[in-house]
Amino acid sequence: MADDTVAAETCLALGAGAPALAVYPGREIALGQLSVLRALPVKGRRLVGPWCFLDRFGPLSFTEGTPMDVAPHPHIGLQTVSWLLDGEIGHLDSLGSEALLRPGGVNVMTSGAAIAHAEQTPRDHTGRLNGVQLWTALPESARHDAAAFQHLAEVPRVELTGGLVHVFSGALDGVVSPATHFSPIVGADVQVHRGARVTVPLAPAHEHALLLLSGDCALEGQPLAPGQLYYLGTARAEMTLASRDGARVLLVGGEPFPETILMWWNFVARTPEEIRAARDDWEAHRRFGDVSAYNGPRLAAPELVRLARPNPVS
Ligand code: MN
Repeated sequence: MADDTVAAETCLALGAGAPALAVYPGREIALGQLSVLRALPVKGRRLVGPWCFLDRFGPLSFTEGTPMDVAPHPHIGLQTVSWLLDGEIGHLDSLGSEALLRPGGVNVMTSGAAIAHAEQTPRDHTGRLNGVQLWTALPESARHDAAAFQHLAEVPRVELTGGLVHVFSGALDGVVSPATHFSPIVGADVQVHRGARVTVPLAPAHEHALLLLSGDCALEGQPLAPGQLYYLGTARAEMTLASRDGARVLLVGGEPFPETILMWWNFVARTPEEIRAARDDWEAHRRFGDVSAYNGPRLAAPELVRLARPNPVS
C-alpha cells in the first residue's frame, strides 16, 4: 500500500550495475631496468573492486644482473599482492620480514598507516622473471592499522572442467585464499587447457576484469589481446573462456569500492594533506622504519608539485 507520509526513494545498491565489456590499453612503464605493463590505473578505469594497481612484468630471461631491484620505498593505505608465473622475487620490509616468492605462492603486504619494503631478484635464481604486482586500496576501517606481511608458499586451487584456477586472494567457487584482505575481493590465475572451454563461477555483486597472461584466449567468443585490461562490469554469475593452445588469464574483482581514494606515488590516501605528511615523514626518516636488510640507498620521493594534478585519482 502506498504511504505518502514517507518520502522514500528507491536507491540502487552499490554493485547493482550490469555486465559490460570495456577494453583499456595498458602502457609501458620503466621500473629501473625493468619494463612493465601498467594495466591499472589507466585512463577511464581507476579501480576494479578494491584493486587499484596492476603491473605486469615479463616474461623475460636474463643471464646477469638483477632485473628486479626496487630499493626501499614507503606505502600507506594499501596492500601489495605479488604473484609469479615464473622466476623468483625476494621481499624485505621494515617489519624485518624476509620472504622468497616463487610461482604458486603469494606475498601480501598490508601497509596500514606505514610500511617500507624492497623487492629484488635474489642471488640464487632461475634467470627468469614473469609475474604481476597488484595493490588493493584499504578501506577506512583498516587503513590506519599496523602494518603486516604474509607469505603463502601455496595458494588454494579450484579444478574446473577445462581449466585450473589458483585463488591467491579472496574467494572463488567457495574456495577461499588464506591471504588477509579487508574488502570482498577475488584475485585468481585462470589456466585454460589446450582446446578447452572453462566456465568460471563469479560473484554477481563483484565487478571483474581480465588480463591475458599467456597463450590465446577468448571470452564468450571475444579474443583477448595481450596488454589490454578487459573490464566486465558487475552482475555476472559466470564467465566462459576458451583457448586453442592453452592460456593463462588474470582475474581480478571485488565489490565496487565504496570510498573515493587519492593516489600519489606509493600512497593511497583520501586527502592531499595526508599525502604531504606521508612524503614529509619518508623524507625525514620518520614513521616508516628502515629496510635494514637491503644493501643500498632507498628511493627518494618525487616532488610534491605533482599534487597539483594527482595522478591517478579516483
Ligand atoms: Mn612497493
